[in-house]
Amino acid sequence: MDEIKRDYVFHRDLTKKYPMITHGEGSYLIDEQGKKYLDGCSGAVAANLGHGITQIAEAMAEQAKKAAFVHTLRFETNVLHKLAEKIGNMAPLHLNKVYFTSGGSEANESALKLARQYHRDAGKMQKHIVIGRWQSYHGNTIGALSAGGDVKRRYPYTPNLLHFAHVYSPYCHRCPYNRNQEDCVANQNWSCITDIERTILELGPENISALIAEPIVGSQQGAVVPPLDYFKKVRELCSRYDILLIVDEVMTGFGRTGTNFAVEQFGIEPDILTFGKGVSAGYAPLGGMIVHDRLIQGLLENSSGKFLHGYTYSGHPVSIAAGLAALDMYEEMNILQNVETQGAYLMECLVALQRKHPYISDIRGRGLLIGLELMKDANQQIFFEPREAASEKLNEICMELGGVFYPGSGSIDGHKGEHIIISPPLNIAKSEVDEIVRLLDHAFSIFH
Ligand code: PLP
Repeated sequence: MDEIKRDYVFHRDLTKKYPMITHGEGSYLIDEQGKKYLDGCSGAVAANLGHGITQIAEAMAEQAKKAAFVHTLRFETNVLHKLAEKIGNMAPLHLNKVYFTSGGSEANESALKLARQYHRDAGKMQKHIVIGRWQSYHGNTIGALSAGGDVKRRYPYTPNLLHFAHVYSPYCHRCPYNRNQEDCVANQNWSCITDIERTILELGPENISALIAEPIVGSQQGAVVPPLDYFKKVRELCSRYDILLIVDEVMTGFGRTGTNFAVEQFGIEPDILTFGKGVSAGYAPLGGMIVHDRLIQGLLENSSGKFLHGYTYSGHPVSIAAGLAALDMYEEMNILQNVETQGAYLMECLVALQRKHPYISDIRGRGLLIGLELMKDANQQIFFEPREAASEKLNEICMELGGVFYPGSGSIDGHKGEHIIISPPLNIAKSEVDEIVRLLDHAFSIFH
């Protein structure tokens, strides 16, 4: 009898067979058959410098040899200070203290808890509700899931989710409030903003702790950029009603959209900025939050300087060393310049591609975070049904052809809209952008 090969790995999809990756080189992953995959989405928008970078691997090994685990409850390390300083200097002016986690969900969980503790210890006991947005993803842990708007992921836990509220995020291409952008601007009456204020007043500002938002909506909507003044208006509402503004830059941070953080482009300072993914260029699990001086002052005055929270792996030296090496490389390579140049070129090529494949109904994004919205018909009237899993199927075709992108659905209300995100490594070369476009062209001709 043939020996049965037992598979002990609990994959996310137990019915699927996954290519076995043996190594990576630059923007490519290579499987055991030698097939190359152009990593058109940096894995999960994380491997922002591509694969096989010895400078980061060596920095990690060096730290592991010195001290692999140092508990931040009792000790600190040099690399921890260096990375916190570097991130603090990249962040908006009054965001200076950096708290580390192992990833984005933990970062957002920490931010929600900090907001709650900050208000509570200042005597505002009732401030506990968080306003999230339906078009958002903040992570898979229960707090982050409660704040996020992914209906498919939320549904099984609805009875146990935290008591949070949700509004629609702006999506002028298909406005959830059926408005058009010129009208909103001309009348200075934006439904996406008045809805937030209505929600605040209905729940009572004295009950609301924070509002959390991605500056450019990632996986839930496919790189949707808000109108320029949206975040200024959100900031103004939050300040007026004593609500903390948490901006989730887990996907957008560290140069992905052309600036260190996307909030720079919207001219606002949040109270807490969360990060993950690109901070270590995917070389080690790492995330965190950068906190406004005002909140730190509040903790010192009202909480004896103690944040009642923590993880075993907060500030893990090997992850921190990876982060430090990655941020050094972004700087050495002048990565923001490459994002601007290749992002603009990619956008131009995709607009040309849309003329050939009119099923692409919207192209949006900033820098090297670009989303393509997909429709079923060339007149762009018919949405794919969720069960058709159109973006997943398109990505499967791409994988057959030797490329991989980031598929997603739910661009309008969690049920309609399919998209893929194109988010290659930030150091991508022009010839590789050409290859991405050729690959998508080929995939679209098979897909429709
Ligand atoms: N926030 C955003 C905007 C994300 O895109 C993600 C992951 O995709 C998360 C949070 C969760 O991060 P992680 O998967 O590292 O927990």
